[in-house]
Amino acid sequence: MDIKKNDILTVEITDTGTEGEGIGKLALPAPDAADTEEKAGGKAAGFTLFVKDAVIGDTVQVKVMKAKKNYAYAKLEKVLVPSPFRVQPPCAFHRQCGGCQLQSLSYEKQLEFKQNKIRNNLVRIGGFDPEKIDACMEPIIGMEDPWHYRNKAQFPFGYDKEGNVVTGFYAGRSHTIIPNADCALGVEENQEILEIILRFMKKYGVPAYEEVSGKGLLRHVLIRKGFASGQLMVCLIINGKKLPEEQRLADELWKIPGMTSVSVNVNMERTNVIMGKKVRVLKGEEKIEDSIGDVVFRISPLSFYQVNPVQTRKLYGQALEYAGLTGEETVWDLYCGIGTISLFLAQKAKKVYGVEIVPEAIADAKENAVRNGITNTEFYVGKAEEVLPRKYEADGVYAGVIVVDPPRKGCDEKCLETMVRMRPGRIVYVSCDSATLGRDLKYLGENGYEVARVRGVDQFPGTTHVETVTLLVRKP
Ligand code: SAH
Repeated sequence: MDIKKNDILTVEITDTGTEGEGIGKLALPAPDAADTEEKAGGKAAGFTLFVKDAVIGDTVQVKVMKAKKNYAYAKLEKVLVPSPFRVQPPCAFHRQCGGCQLQSLSYEKQLEFKQNKIRNNLVRIGGFDPEKIDACMEPIIGMEDPWHYRNKAQFPFGYDKEGNVVTGFYAGRSHTIIPNADCALGVEENQEILEIILRFMKKYGVPAYEEVSGKGLLRHVLIRKGFASGQLMVCLIINGKKLPEEQRLADELWKIPGMTSVSVNVNMERTNVIMGKKVRVLKGEEKIEDSIGDVVFRISPLSFYQVNPVQTRKLYGQALEYAGLTGEETVWDLYCGIGTISLFLAQKAKKVYGVEIVPEAIADAKENAVRNGITNTEFYVGKAEEVLPRKYEADGVYAGVIVVDPPRKGCDEKCLETMVRMRPGRIVYVSCDSATLGRDLKYLGENGYEVARVRGVDQFPGTTHVETVTLLVRKP
């Protein structure tokens, strides 16, 4: 018997896949297939099942959804014997929602999964010797309380089947909205803000944007909270210039303690990109304030800001330690955002240069430097892979230490190539995707640098994502 769609099987989950899914090697066919047991046993030896929502250590009953020759994707039907690592997830929607993949796994095991994920990517993609990686990998830094850690959320608006306006989260791999305003990762104010907006939409007949037709008005809302300052930001992203009765909405939101910034952002493009380019303030300030350690930051709706402030403090602390600054160094901070790492390092360096592609973020970075009385920083708008080579070739700039913190796609090769040519003694690579980190470390490893220390920081509990800080030193 071949394994085919709709087969019901029993399997023990022995591993966790990169997407957080459970992995099992086929054990026994389900009882109703007992008559073909002998044949199936023979053919299916080594057959792998990928089961979303199954936890390592579970024995589960699954239904095959898509079968290939040696493996199949299957749906979890029933947990027959729960894993000792299985926990009760706090969110009722965790199986549908695309946000959390590891909620049913104990936090300790989540950390173990992430530690292994980094290690495997460095070995498999980076091509490093496993022993070498084990020797320089430090234990991942987790959270004490791994819930409600996110300072930012973006909720889409749309309609349910009955035509009611809804907001919540996209279901995994789709743009169907699951109406849940009470996310276990977000701040408690999210719910009240969303309820006010939904009430307002109903009262004034404000239509939600519909991706299929490109019609409608309210697309998303961005909510941010400064954990240290308590300040709240609400930015409404609209497919038009104005919301009807927008001041009334701003006044209503203003009643929430901490509300500091209510704005609209215009995005009239038919695109998946959430934010448009222009922000118009409805009430209060355009930016909110927050601090990490003793550095204060002003953050605009368009700028990137790390989503988990508690862990960000630890992440930057680790980057600072790896940078090994004595006060004499010239540091380049590539992909610097609003200058968070730059300003953190500037306190211990001679000079820090930051490079970032988003002009608003660089404006924030400059303002943040002034606000903190930091005078040894300079910031440039542009692509790291263009600014760095230009500065190096035209002005012959020097770097003792280079810090990079690129988005998931990692560094452009042109950027890596210039970094190597600049010959800094140390490179600190902060990465949110250990697969592209592996690729880039391979390049740096082949071009004069040695991986000296690696450490994961769990910025995203409940999900499969993990941040990694790596120290590379120039080989003698
Ligand atoms: N170091 C910052 C930001 C890291 S996120 C912090 O910790 O807050 C990555 C940043 O890279 C984003 O701000 C993004 O706008 C920026 N970016 C993306 N592509 C870029 C490129 N090619 N060159 C420079 N910056 C880029």
